[in-house]
Amino acid sequence: MLVHKLNLLFTNPFINSLPEDKVKENYQRQVEHAAFSYVTPKATSSPSLVAMSDDVASLVGISKDDTNSDTFIKVFSGNELIEGMSPYAMCYGGFQFGQWAGQLGDGRAINLGEVEAKSGTLTLQLKGAGPTPYSRTADGLAVLRSSVREFLCSEAMHHLGIPTTRALSLCLTGDHVIRDMMYDGNAKPELGAVVCRVSPSFMRFGSFQLPAMRQDSTLLKQMVDYCIRQDFSHLVEGNNLITKSTYLAWFNEVSERTADMVIDWMRVGFVHGVMNTDNMSIIGETIDYGPYGWIDNFDLGWTPNTTDRQNKRYRFGAQANVALWNLCQLANSIIPIIGSTEELQAQLDEFGRKYEYKWHKMMASKLGLSPDNFNESNDSRYQQDEQLFKALENILSIVETDMTIFYRLLAQLPLNKNTLSSSVIKEHFDACFYEPSKLTEEYTNTLLNWLKEYQTRVNSENIKDTERQTAMNTVNPKYVLRNYLSQIAIDKANLGDYSEIHALHELLKRPYDEQPENEKYFSKRPEWAKDKVGCSMLSCSS
Ligand code: AMP
Ligand code: MG
Repeated sequence: MLVHKLNLLFTNPFINSLPEDKVKENYQRQVEHAAFSYVTPKATSSPSLVAMSDDVASLVGISKDDTNSDTFIKVFSGNELIEGMSPYAMCYGGFQFGQWAGQLGDGRAINLGEVEAKSGTLTLQLKGAGPTPYSRTADGLAVLRSSVREFLCSEAMHHLGIPTTRALSLCLTGDHVIRDMMYDGNAKPELGAVVCRVSPSFMRFGSFQLPAMRQDSTLLKQMVDYCIRQDFSHLVEGNNLITKSTYLAWFNEVSERTADMVIDWMRVGFVHGVMNTDNMSIIGETIDYGPYGWIDNFDLGWTPNTTDRQNKRYRFGAQANVALWNLCQLANSIIPIIGSTEELQAQLDEFGRKYEYKWHKMMASKLGLSPDNFNESNDSRYQQDEQLFKALENILSIVETDMTIFYRLLAQLPLNKNTLSSSVIKEHFDACFYEPSKLTEEYTNTLLNWLKEYQTRVNSENIKDTERQTAMNTVNPKYVLRNYLSQIAIDKANLGDYSEIHALHELLKRPYDEQPENEKYFSKRPEWAKDKVGCSMLSCSS
């Protein structure tokens, strides 16, 4: 039954603009010539609220009173529909680990509809609300463990200033879900949960790839045109016509946003873990928090995803290349509506150079160097800085060095009137090394030499220590969602104690601020977490 509650205005442009699946029954199937299928969330036995995000509620337009209501829990656990909601699952495909996987779609996500909010149109999506025509052999459900990770990380990312889907709420369903967490024959019941995600768009690269692969250029064009009008409307000319140049401008902007997102991930030490094209948002948001992880010790070769352990396709240092590979596949799929390849090829050829430039700027900001001091990539200072940045990455990889702690300590190191000697390594940087016994004389000298070069660079520009520290502390977070921190919150939540979820949620609202009362969260990964399932090893099964 539909009831008018929560005072939300649903306009639902997606279902009103794009072709629907004519079949209304909920069984798994191939869905052709359609962008979505209508489907109703599964009722659950005893829903309850674990956590919610006030600022997302207010973004969506839900009042404080309403967030405290029973209706809120019922609606965002999939147990009640309110007026205007018209739930549906989206149809898309994707390249998984480099192979075309055909139709995938929202197997465990159901969109409730699109709300007109102050900031624009926002889609509300339940993750884990039951099977859809795209569930293939799976159950459409999610467990508390993965839902805590999705909830906390979406919000942490947002507060780091990184584009991401948001999380409104995390509810327990009251039901159990059977999961074989490490795919090793040890299936057991876990608590079922539903997260309500919020975004202007849940379209993925794979949303366009599926109609392209099926040679359905009518649907392909409908999807691209819809995406442009809805989320890239600034690209549409005054006469409202979409032309070849609009498509090229759209692809260019998708590439830029994707590059910017990956640069942000590299800045804070985030590894997505499954950059399949069905997990690449067309609006450049971080989406689908599965086996992701955060870098403790700086390691470009690290991946948290056990499914990817052999090839490490989605390792930390490969994310930019993977983004480009994914963009190449997206470019291939839109050739039919563009009619030629040269312009797309030219844009892809430029990606590497543009990315390098963005990376350079990001590294300069991490080191507190003024970004205005370079313009030309052939500038000699630019080249010198580039070497300084690359040398630092090498040094951080020689011995296990905590990335987050290192940059905060570096910000605090006085450089203006300070003669650096080798004692600084032990005295100032001690807290960031995982194995202090491995700090050989050779290593100490290498880091010391780098610090001296950095000092010369800083002083040549007359950058004051205090200013440098302030600038660096706005781009190098003090607090990130370390893998072991989520795991502690999950272990407690599984016993019915949600206090650590709430504590982390609050902590990570101000990731760049000094929070003296939370200093304990500014510490290296403990030894027990190094190879623990959930902390450094995650599978896709959630
Ligand atoms: P992922 O890589 O986790 O984003 O998932 C890849 C595909 O599998 C997507 O189409 C998901 O909707 C689907 N999927 C993942 N988990 C489940 C599940 N528990 N039930 C149904 N479909 C799922
Ligand atoms: Mg996905």
